[in-house]
Amino acid sequence: MKTIIIGGVAGGASTATRLRRMDEKAEIIVLERGEYISFANCGLPYHIGNVIPEREKLLVVTPEKLRNTFNIKARVRHEAISIDRNNKTAKVRDLSSGREYTENYDKLVLSPGASPIVPPLPGVDLPGVFTLRSIPDMDKIRDFIEEKRPQRAVVVGGGFIGLELAENLHQRGIEVTVIEMLDQVMAPIDYEMAAMVHQHLDFKHVRLALGDGISDIEQNETLHVSMQSGKTVNTDMVILSVGVRPETSLAESAGLKLGIRGTFEVNDHMQTADANIYAIGDAVAVKNIVSGKVVNLPLAGPASKQARIVADHIAGNEVSFRGVQGTSIVKVFDLTVASTGLNAKQLNELELPYRCAIIHASNHAGYYPAASPMAFKLLFSPQGKIYGAQVVGLEGADKRIDVIATAIRGGMTVFDLEDLELGYAPPFGSARDPINIIGFVAGNILRGDLETMEWNDVDKIDRSQFTILDVRDPEELAIGHIEGAINIPLGELRDRAKELPRSKKILVYCQVGQRGYFAVRILNQLGFQAINLNGGYKTYSHAVCPQANFDTFENVSISSREEITEKVPFNIQDSNQFEVDACGLQCPGPILKLYQKVKEIDVGDVVTVKATDFGFTSDVGAWADRTGNKLLSVDSEGGVITAKIQKGAAKKAEESKGVMTQDKTMVMFSGDLDKAIAGFIIANGAASMGHKVTMFFTFWGLNILRKDNPPKVKKTLIEKMFGFMMPRGSRKLTLSKMHMAGMGTAMIKGIMKKKNVNSLEELIQSALDNGVTIQACQMSMDLMGIQKDELIEGIETVGVATFIHASDDSNATIFI
Ligand code: FAD
Repeated sequence: MKTIIIGGVAGGASTATRLRRMDEKAEIIVLERGEYISFANCGLPYHIGNVIPEREKLLVVTPEKLRNTFNIKARVRHEAISIDRNNKTAKVRDLSSGREYTENYDKLVLSPGASPIVPPLPGVDLPGVFTLRSIPDMDKIRDFIEEKRPQRAVVVGGGFIGLELAENLHQRGIEVTVIEMLDQVMAPIDYEMAAMVHQHLDFKHVRLALGDGISDIEQNETLHVSMQSGKTVNTDMVILSVGVRPETSLAESAGLKLGIRGTFEVNDHMQTADANIYAIGDAVAVKNIVSGKVVNLPLAGPASKQARIVADHIAGNEVSFRGVQGTSIVKVFDLTVASTGLNAKQLNELELPYRCAIIHASNHAGYYPAASPMAFKLLFSPQGKIYGAQVVGLEGADKRIDVIATAIRGGMTVFDLEDLELGYAPPFGSARDPINIIGFVAGNILRGDLETMEWNDVDKIDRSQFTILDVRDPEELAIGHIEGAINIPLGELRDRAKELPRSKKILVYCQVGQRGYFAVRILNQLGFQAINLNGGYKTYSHAVCPQANFDTFENVSISSREEITEKVPFNIQDSNQFEVDACGLQCPGPILKLYQKVKEIDVGDVVTVKATDFGFTSDVGAWADRTGNKLLSVDSEGGVITAKIQKGAAKKAEESKGVMTQDKTMVMFSGDLDKAIAGFIIANGAASMGHKVTMFFTFWGLNILRKDNPPKVKKTLIEKMFGFMMPRGSRKLTLSKMHMAGMGTAMIKGIMKKKNVNSLEELIQSALDNGVTIQACQMSMDLMGIQKDELIEGIETVGVATFIHASDDSNATIFI
């Protein structure tokens, strides 16, 4: 039996060697167009970054080795140029000599891979613009770096090869800009998980443009990359990494039909429509075992497994390829980003109902050194079938995604995850592994013990129907909070639950979701309808903050960015230095440890904190900012974050506030001119500082809002009398003191005019123009016989509940 294999890297070389193991007598010929056979294409970015310094380590196998060890004829620089199915021959061109010849076969295996997509845009063929697929591609990039010493690089595409390249170019001291067309990098994971990657890229000073593509590249003194948004970036080199296209040019001569994304269509044995022609790897479409749909998954794992199936099948074994599930993993600087199965976007497209659980858990026991957290998302059906999972973390992220990948293969449910017995000792895991914990959370959701809300639903809720409850400790609030939330720490919740309105649902959150869950259980058993924020404030805050940082770098080079943010308030030389080891602690642990230390030291002293939770890189800046301390630097190495903070003069304790918002509410009870003026001056001042202001006018305060020339309205005698006795509108108001038969009032109006202070009428108008909400109390209006038409334009008539709702969301209510 003679087998020709076209393509001699991941799929092709594996087919050849497995076939030899199965059939010692088979004649096996491998045709490879390139210069190298079976090289480690996955290692290419790391040689560019000098992480793998030895080039020869990437050359896993040579033609000589294949001949000597496996008796395989491997011909490099030999390209198959057509296939004659009827005569079972392939036409081959020797690229070194130009000679063409025909080779007959019994079985033919196509493993031609996929080539990088080069978008048809002006300038993509300029010197300094590269793609990366092969050893020669890698050599060109390395030679360019060695010779030209580029300072800046643009990587187009934020997929896994793009991000590996970004990291490795950065490793070479090059300032990197990543331009990604989607609104997130790493398409296999969901937005809120990718948000953590965006913030890590920013932390590593990688410039990131999202939702934008390149439109052309020009050669001036440097390369000038224009983007579809009109933005531009100057650079010394560009690497295009926008995806791959299956290499299926041989299909036409062979008369083989192509399927989705231009791939070879194959059956379960990896046979094309011609049973003697197999196809594998990046160039085929196969079944996704989770969705049941046919997909193209250009990854090395499936290619090598398909190779084994094909070799076995050619050797006479009835084996089948069972399909893929899309397990992938990538290192992005300090982070590990891994996923398996379907993500939320895919589930939505497939219209499959699903639920999800998000946890932040440590890779091993927190008390054992160097524990690090991971964000872990599990997607599952309402019946518990596991659809997919995503992990963004450091150590141990790979292990968890592999367990879930195995569980999916084994047809397990989320309830099985609760029971899985995984290896535990403090350096390796926890008695309740993150796998068990995410199983518990998913189980709780499906059993109805826990209702959850996703981060992107928070801003959509009707605030009049919800109270948002933050159950973190006061010290944690400086990290940030959800606008309008009330703070009752978990430990006080049982005693203070009576402060919560029973008429509303309670959206509960803590930092990572666990205390939120405890609070939900307490509240639900006290008769409230409580819902936990999935993934806690950590997931929410990562997802809602700015993701791209392209504009931040607009007028400043990336390397000088640190200098700009670092202004030291005191001379560090003279200050006492302290250290805090918060490694292994999950957020907010590092912040709380830092807070404790800062309380003990003097203004000007410096604390160096070491932590392993990457949420700390953004939290520490926000915390320092809000508490009047100074973040001097934050950096990471080997997964350990080091932040230096200098104690400053403390800002007013935000943490003592129950309600975390800037909104202001005012009750305008008095109808005195001076008090009305004071009220509107405060309202305008607060509005001009961006605070949302609501003024609630009741009893005598309603007179301020009356028109001086109202339309005729139907009234009872008493109402008419009341209306007659009370001042009609702002112009008729008098001073609370020193009215002196009108003299005092006239004097104050004159002084205001002289000193250029706006009149009350102007103040009212400016409040309305500034977006201040002016409410008239319906109940007082009824009592006093005032009708809406008698009040000035632009106000709302409301019940007291509407005002109470506004005051719930404010941090100060002023009574005038
Ligand atoms: P390839 O391995 O690409 O081999 C195809 C070969 O066929 C090529 O060498 C080509 O020259 C040759 N060929 C094509 N047409 C002809 C012809 N007519 N005649 C003769 N020869 C021909 N996957 C992962 O799972 N994890 C990773 O970390 C990862 N990292 C990667 C990093 C980089 C930079 C790249 C480029 C890919 C990476 N991949 C990774 C993807 C993985 O390498 C591919 O999925 C895998 O190599 C596909 O195997 P294949 O046999 O289908 O194609």
